[in-house]
Order: sequence, then structure tokens, then C-alpha cells
Amino acid sequence: MIGDAAHTCAPQLASGATIAIEDSIVLANLIQSGQPLEEMLERFMTRRYERCRMVVHNSWQFGEWEKTPGTPRADPTALITASMRALAAPIRAISKVIVQLACN
Ligand SMILES: Cc1cc2nc3c(=O)[nH]c(=O)nc-3n(C[C@H](O)[C@H](O)[C@H](O)COP(=O)(O)OP(=O)(O)OC[C@H]3O[C@@H](n4cnc5c(N)ncnc54)[C@H](O)[C@@H]3O)c2cc1C
Repeated sequence: MIGDAAHTCAPQLASGATIAIEDSIVLANLIQSGQPLEEMLERFMTRRYERCRMVVHNSWQFGEWEKTPGTPRADPTALITASMRALAAPIRAISKVIVQLACN
């Protein structure tokens, strides 16, 4: 599964379609590599999991802060900036900083 079927998220980061398209590119790339199916799907998960998890989590976090204005230490601007920076990085890369920021 790819796209929303695999990682539906709140719309706050406006990136659900972005990561769905990325999924399809990575999957097509792996299919072309001719690896055995099981290995290929494992690689797909490895390449996609953290980046998609970041979008789902940070979209949710942003939505929570929207619902509860004045949440201590909430910093939507920093969260969005860090999320966009992470998404601008090559598909394999994911900043650990952004995950920590979202979890604080
Ligand atoms: C309010 C809102 C704003 C958003 N804004 C943005 C944005 O600015 N930028 C961004 O990147 N993302 C945005 N998103 C997220 C984005 O719309 C989704 O992440 C993206 O559409 C997911 O694409 P998908 O192909 O995985 O799923 P979908 O777009 O849901 O496509 C699935 C398709 O499968 C069809 N289907 C379902 N069941 C069957 C069946 N049994 N047989 C045949 N066909 C079937 C459906 O009709 C649909 O056409 C937003 C989402 C919302 C709700």
C-alpha cells in the first residue's frame, strides 16, 4: 500500500499528496531494480517509513496546537519550518531534529 491508504494524515502540513507521490516514485524505482519481491518491499519500508511517519506525526501535532491555543512550548512556526526543511531534503534523508521537536 502507498499514499493515504498507508499513511493518512491530517491536512495541516499540506503534504499528504507529496508523500503519496514520493511513495510511487520510490516503489517504481525499486520495481525496476529487479530485486526479489520480499526484499524489495522491505527496502521500500526502510526508505519510506520515517519520512512518512514524520509528516503524519507533525501534521497531527500542528492540529493539536491549533485546537488548543496557548499550549506551553507549542511552536507551530518552528514545526512547519523544520518539517518543510526535512521534506526539501533528498527522499532518503530525514532530520532527527524534526522528530525531537515534534515530540517535545
Ligand atoms: C482538506 C485537505 C487538504 C489537503 N491539502 C493538501 C495539500 O495542499 N498538499 C498535499 O500534498 N496534500 C494535501 N492533502 C492530502 C492529499 O489530498 C492526499 O494525501 C492525497 O490525495 C492522497 O492520495 P492517494 O492517491 O493516496 O489517495 P486518494 O487521493 O484518496 O485516491 C484514492 C482513489 O481511489 C479511489 N478508490 C477508493 N476505493 C476504490 C475502489 N474500491 N475501487 C476503485 N477506486 C477506489 C478513490 O475514489 C480515489 O480516487 C489534503 C487533504 C485534505 C483532506
